[in-house]
Amino acid sequence: MEQNKNIYDVAIIGAGPAGYTAALYSARAGRSAIVFEKASPGGQMGITSTIENYPGFASVEGFELAMKMESQAKGLGAACKTEAVLAVSEENGWEKVITKKGEYLARALIIATGAKPRLLDVPGEALYTGRGVSYCATCDGMFYRGRDVAVNGGGDTAFEDALYLSNMCRSVTLIHRRYQFRAAAYLVKRAREKDNIHFILNTVIKEIKGQDSRLSGLILSDKISGKESELQCSGLFVAAGRVPETELFRDLVDLDQTGYVIAGEDTRTSRPGVFAAGDVRTKSLRQIVTACSDGAVASQAAEEWIEGMEEV
Ligand code: NAP
Repeated sequence: MEQNKNIYDVAIIGAGPAGYTAALYSARAGRSAIVFEKASPGGQMGITSTIENYPGFASVEGFELAMKMESQAKGLGAACKTEAVLAVSEENGWEKVITKKGEYLARALIIATGAKPRLLDVPGEALYTGRGVSYCATCDGMFYRGRDVAVNGGGDTAFEDALYLSNMCRSVTLIHRRYQFRAAAYLVKRAREKDNIHFILNTVIKEIKGQDSRLSGLILSDKISGKESELQCSGLFVAAGRVPETELFRDLVDLDQTGYVIAGEDTRTSRPGVFAAGDVRTKSLRQIVTACSDGAVASQAAEEWIEGMEEV
């Protein structure tokens, strides 16, 4: 097919660490690559405050690392578009990506859309989202300077959020549904050492209450006694894990029961020519470094697929 501006060797959906790594590897292999991102660059990494487990950086801001990855991919020739993908499909052996601004064809497709925050699904959550309920402490924390806030969850994100917020809020109450935490021990230790971080454990949020159209408190329920109590606060930061962003790919590739794209370490999906990299695929460890690894593997797998097409 004749080369035009909307035809690429590799289309990558999602500009997190997996997507950018795939783009830079494909560009270095001499392939034309395009990355689609619907919002700001970096995905989950871009909204993480401080990253301390990415080799080569003792401590780096998530957004800074995202910008470095983007500029590296762009510098090597990858196209990076801020365009939400509306649909993907197959067209005469090509992968077609449709956005509001146009249609793009690629010989290989890499799904690197990551995951989005899991909602608590309790009364008041939708009503007060953006008016006290937030899913991103680094984005919204500054609006709660000097206030009392709560964080819900017991994983790395909840603890990182609590630590970040404790530097600007009067108090942070971490609410978790169990006594055990998933978070790394060093994060738990740091949070326990902070005077203004309090813990309410074995407890779930039953309802989010508001006053004058803003969140004003939480109705909590103790999981053992069933006793209810109210916690007054100005903000709730939900850190209850993530769900994969795979709605677009339901008819394209096989997903597991929880919605992740079924793909092994080789990133190959049920559909030849379509690869899945990073948090979006079935895997045991979801970290920036493993997402980058997937991006490199997916790019290589895409390269082999394209070479196979060229031989025919
Ligand atoms: P996560 O590890 O899945 O933790 C989610 C937490 O939310 C769990 O404590 C879970 O409770 C709780 N939860 C789930 N559904 C809930 C509900 N409906 N109501 C109340 N609580 C609920 O998610 P994450 O902390 O976002 O981390 C995701 C991945 O990213 C992990 O692999 C993590 O290691 C990684 N990550 C790494 C870093 C880092 O290395 N710096 C930073 C952030 C995230 P249970 O424990 O009872 O299930």
